[in-house]
Amino acid sequence: MTYHDVTIMGGGPAGLAAALSLEARGLSVAVLERTPQAPWSEPAFDGREIALTHHSVAVLKELGAWPHIPEVAISPLREARVETGRGNHPLQFDTQGQGVDALGYLVSNHCIRHGLYKAASQRPGISLLGGTATRHIRRIGGDMVVVHDGGEITSRLAIGADGRFSQIRRSQRIGAIVHDFKRSMLVCRMAHELPHHHVATQWFDEGQTIALLPVNGGASSIVLTLPSEQIERLRTLERDAFNAEIMERVGRRLGNMRLVSTRHAYPLRGVYAHRFAAPGFALVGDAAVGMHPITAHGFNLGLKGQEALAQEVAAGMARGEPVGSLSALRRFERRHRMETAPLFAATNGIATLYTRDEPAFRVLRQAGLRVADALSPFKSAVTNMLMDRKTAS
Ligand SMILES: Cc1cc2nc3c(=O)[nH]c(=O)nc-3n(C[C@H](O)[C@H](O)[C@H](O)COP(=O)(O)OP(=O)(O)OC[C@H]3O[C@@H](n4cnc5c(N)ncnc54)[C@H](O)[C@@H]3O)c2cc1C
Repeated sequence: MTYHDVTIMGGGPAGLAAALSLEARGLSVAVLERTPQAPWSEPAFDGREIALTHHSVAVLKELGAWPHIPEVAISPLREARVETGRGNHPLQFDTQGQGVDALGYLVSNHCIRHGLYKAASQRPGISLLGGTATRHIRRIGGDMVVVHDGGEITSRLAIGADGRFSQIRRSQRIGAIVHDFKRSMLVCRMAHELPHHHVATQWFDEGQTIALLPVNGGASSIVLTLPSEQIERLRTLERDAFNAEIMERVGRRLGNMRLVSTRHAYPLRGVYAHRFAAPGFALVGDAAVGMHPITAHGFNLGLKGQEALAQEVAAGMARGEPVGSLSALRRFERRHRMETAPLFAATNGIATLYTRDEPAFRVLRQAGLRVADALSPFKSAVTNMLMDRKTAS
């Protein structure tokens, strides 16, 4: 049996960020990750390109992860366009008048994971236990006892960070709202003939939704949403046929295109936990709030959640409360709910409006974009939300 102030179950980006934030406040932290140590420390490309806000970049710098992300892996996002159907009026967001040169930055998920792992591996107060799945958690007196493959850890606070299909959340009898969009997303990188000028395009076409995310090296990340069986067909389609079909699907707007990465599929399900905290226990990352990727908020919100948790735990300790007191956890829960609930609802609404093909939905989204583009206060509000330029504290 070993003792750490905090045990985090799940060493994804949210769990690792939480470990760094809590250790920076003087706590000893164990992170249990079921993936073996080698692939955990050097994660493979998983298709996800994460659009980071300015706030998230500031947090990753503060946590010491940013210097471990190679510069070539950071692609600035200069403009974002939202289109519906073919030849309709697009909605555009750019940095004009904002005093910065990018709306945000695209970084591959595996590079973020690697950066956070590297930073955590250099901290004396963090123990990283790879290849270690959590079996169960017991509350004994004021302590949490986490039983894992290799033994037991006793802590004041246990944190579930095991992703949107969290078993840890279920084991603590915390339910969740689950929104099944009945679609999957295919993600991969493709090199192309014409330049992207660092413009991201989200295109709600009839029968499909495609995002083209500009990355360095004359390539874009393709994010295609379709019913799951069609995604599975495309994921395994022979390369030449795949290239030809994608070029057709994007309307040949980038010229010739060629697959340059592995292809990955993700089922689209939004998850919102009924509670983020219980005595001695908290949820962070997708285990608390798993967003539909359409508004690119999942990890950005995960970073905010772990930041709020670490701040409230530290504030409680400064008042003389024990680590992870229930009042500190409740304050974290309130803050994170206020931050995430409106965005979760809005994202589900947008995802539904823009993926249904009945005529009423088509008319609504065309009118919606035209009206939104004419409203400059609306556009600057959305631009500010996309950029989220508040500095980390
Ligand atoms: C296609 C796509 C695009 C996205 N784009 C964006 C974007 O542009 N911007 C954005 O902000 N977000 C985006 N997201 C969301 C973002 O990827 C997630 O919010 C983020 O990865 C969640 O991190 P996490 O650590 O909470 O969960 P995960 O990354 O799921 O990590 C959970 C970890 O827990 C481990 N684990 C599970 N069970 C156990 C157990 N019992 N014991 C120990 N370990 C366990 C897993 O192995 C895993 O490593 C996107 C998501 C997708 C699918």
